[in-house]
Amino acid sequence: MLGLYIHVPFCSAICNYCNFNRGLFDAALKARYVDALVAEIGRAGAVPTAGVADTIYFGGGTPSLLEPDEIARIVEACTSAFDVADDREVTLEANPESVTTERLAAYRASGVNRVSFGVQSFRDEELRRLSRLHDANRARAAVADARAAGFDNVSLDLMMWLPGQQVGDWLSSVDEAIAIGLEHLSLYLLEVYPNAPLKETMARARWSQAPDDDAAAMYVTAMERLESAGYEQYEISNVARRGRQSRHNLKYWTDGEWLGFGCGAHSTRDGVRWKNVSSTEEYIDRIGRHQTTAVDVRRMAADERLGDALFTGLRLAEGLDLSAIESRYGVDVWARYGGELAPFVDAGCLTRDGARLWLTRRGMLLAHEVMTVFV
Ligand code: SF4
Repeated sequence: MLGLYIHVPFCSAICNYCNFNRGLFDAALKARYVDALVAEIGRAGAVPTAGVADTIYFGGGTPSLLEPDEIARIVEACTSAFDVADDREVTLEANPESVTTERLAAYRASGVNRVSFGVQSFRDEELRRLSRLHDANRARAAVADARAAGFDNVSLDLMMWLPGQQVGDWLSSVDEAIAIGLEHLSLYLLEVYPNAPLKETMARARWSQAPDDDAAAMYVTAMERLESAGYEQYEISNVARRGRQSRHNLKYWTDGEWLGFGCGAHSTRDGVRWKNVSSTEEYIDRIGRHQTTAVDVRRMAADERLGDALFTGLRLAEGLDLSAIESRYGVDVWARYGGELAPFVDAGCLTRDGARLWLTRRGMLLAHEVMTVFV
């Protein structure tokens, strides 16, 4: 089944480390953008092969800057255009400062049944360094607001290896997330891009990131604590209570298919990959002129599809099902790549058992090195 991704490119302020496709909130632009989204989804549904979907994911940007009735319109556009399963997962990414219990209850009434908060840290000093608009108390309150609004599927994002952050600081945020009792957590390493304003701020303020070995300790210790608390790591950066994995994001790692709507959104279907034009204005303009919004349309070669399936599948804790890959792509993975993969097995980064191949936790720290074998 398809996943439907909806990109919302608006934020109340631009964080100093952000590398996403986003811009500052503008109410008039947002209203035109929502109309364009509804039109694009309707267009995709106007073909007999529109298909069956079981997940809708509002990502951004800050999707919680859309009004609940705008979210309802978009969900409605999806259910009119596609055959959307009754047990659909509908996720809304939200920033803690942009929600109240009433607003979240209204999102729920609009069809959203999973909310994912961009919390990043439970330490005010770290949040300030990232130029986030919320503080730790607002993050705690946002989760409580979601519970009060009736959400029983709540996720949050935390970021590790922040400027000035020590291992103990990071673990205090992890412990707090555990204590709050969420269904799902995503843990990301901060990447400081060369042109990110944060890079300059760090140089001026003499903040640095902890040594690599500390970053490794942050990751490994967090995963151990989360497992002790009953979470299952199902992907390099994601843990969940049993049965609460992100069904939408799993499509990206299990060789699935998805359609992305909105500026800069990516799609993959029937072996074709494409990306929508990045500029919000140009996207709206093209929709208004009934022109295609797709740029970079590419039919993937068989080898690229295989490489992609291997590269993304290895991110999963359960790893690759080599016999499924062989029946889908006609390739014996070990026969083709075994020579290059064997040193990683010897080094304790990869485990091969029967028809499965997976990264050990140590291997997850070096995932990029292992995955380069496939791309
Ligand atoms: S809220 Fe998220 S998308 Fe918006 S600027 Fe900050 S990091 Fe980027």
